[in-house]
Amino acid sequence: MSSENQLIKNNYHTHMYLCRHATGTVEDYVKEAIRLGFDSLGMSDHAPWKKLIDRSVRMHLSDYPKYLKQLDEAIEKYSDRIKIYKAVEIEYFSKEEDHYKNLLKDLDYLVLGQHYIEKGKSLISVYRITSIEDLTIYKDTLIKAMKTGCFKFIAHPDLFLFSQKELSEEVLSIAEEIIIAAKEHDIPLEINANGIRKDLIDLGDKKLYRYPREEFWKLVKKHEAKVIISSDAHKPDQLFDYTLIKAFEFSRQLNLTVEEELQF
Ligand SMILES: [Zn+2]
Ligand SMILES: [Zn+2]
Repeated sequence: MSSENQLIKNNYHTHMYLCRHATGTVEDYVKEAIRLGFDSLGMSDHAPWKKLIDRSVRMHLSDYPKYLKQLDEAIEKYSDRIKIYKAVEIEYFSKEEDHYKNLLKDLDYLVLGQHYIEKGKSLISVYRITSIEDLTIYKDTLIKAMKTGCFKFIAHPDLFLFSQKELSEEVLSIAEEIIIAAKEHDIPLEINANGIRKDLIDLGDKKLYRYPREEFWKLVKKHEAKVIISSDAHKPDQLFDYTLIKAFEFSRQLNLTVEEELQF
């Protein structure tokens, strides 16, 4: 490991410029990961989705072959120095199971990153949901996704708490259902360092990260579900920055056991 990075050897959640809100090519991230002394790097840019094209800045479908090509070229060039995994971060939408299975023919894994919930025919941003009804849809969506067996881990599972101030018993029990399901399906839950790059939630006497959200991760500890820490890098220099140090501090304060490496 390099002297600046004594903490991580693997990062499984990494973006690149094709999603249109990150910078850097696959090779830029691979070179930075090698410099940091990583054993492996999982590239997991946002998958293209037709139904999100007007709502979110995402990879265009026509760019997906470029993404795969950059991955294959990097593997060919750097495989003697680092293990590179091919992945995407993707939403779970109902009736799309064949799509996930098809993607897995080319990719090593899928990261579940649920940024929208389906409500009737509309999609609602998870950043904005507040009602018990919507939080429950989020929870049910994650549990359905876990049951498919298509997802390697759950990115920012606590994102649904983004707009919640004090958490009621009812909200905590929704959180707990997600955690119990993850434990049951043996799917790691991700402490996402990108949340630490964002603003805090102000609870008057206390300021908390919106994600990783402390109350959620206390419940993860209670159930001893599997935990990983990811950078969710959108720039090469975010593969290892102060937010990773903070994420590890956060896990230590809650006495969480963090998986250093995923099994393939
Ligand atoms: Zn992103
Ligand atoms: Zn991400």
